[in-house]
Amino acid sequence: MSLMITAIPAFDDNYIWCLSRPGHDRVWVVDPGDAQPVLAFLQEHRLQLEGILITHHHSDHTGGIGQLKAQFEQLAVWGPDNPQIPGITLALPDNEQRVLPGLDVTVRVLAVPGHTLDHLAYVCDGNLLCGDTLFSAGCGRMFEGTPEQFTRSLARLAELPAQTKVYSAHEYTLSNLRFAGAVDAGNPVIAAYQQECEALRAQGQPTLPSSMARELSCNPFLRLNDHHIRQALTQHWDQEITDTVRAFALLRRWKDNF
Ligand SMILES: [Zn+2]
Repeated sequence: MSLMITAIPAFDDNYIWCLSRPGHDRVWVVDPGDAQPVLAFLQEHRLQLEGILITHHHSDHTGGIGQLKAQFEQLAVWGPDNPQIPGITLALPDNEQRVLPGLDVTVRVLAVPGHTLDHLAYVCDGNLLCGDTLFSAGCGRMFEGTPEQFTRSLARLAELPAQTKVYSAHEYTLSNLRFAGAVDAGNPVIAAYQQECEALRAQGQPTLPSSMARELSCNPFLRLNDHHIRQALTQHWDQEITDTVRAFALLRRWKDNF
């Protein structure tokens, strides 16, 4: 039976992803920044919380851990080896592979520093749970890492199979596509995807998951060597750009002020 991944919306634009198996009542959630929507979801669907995966230390991803632990004894809380995150029961190193108890699915850990230094991404059953590292048509802000680290982390994710489904932690797709359209104006994928996302949002539906194939075709942060994007960067910053890391740094800075 395949893995099912459902969005639990939280705050203004966060998604807490719930991992489950059809017909089974034991589930895991990823990045519960708020316990309330998780508890309501579990109650509505009569589910039992087995564990939590954490991608990084920001409070909109970790704020619900304490309340969920109080509610569920023996709750597994897996995540980065970072004392800033309260309640972690298992710190996961890069490349670790573990079976999620209750779901019987293997999760592979990828260290992806850049947005924060502790950031982890999880690959499980052809799905990528990437927190605030990769968004659809964009990437997270660089709060703690370096352009070198962030570029390497994104390249690592880009190497995943094209059919990998991409579950980011925020609904930022439409605003990211506005920026993507500005730096990659001639890319026909962007306008078509924008229409699709507008229709989904009009119905209150998430634009996620995306896929790695889609991201490779429209996400400027995964297309740093594209001729048109390099040209747009050169023009915007009025300087010659000779390497990928520099292209990332300037693209990120442009987006921060877009
Ligand atoms: Zn964050």
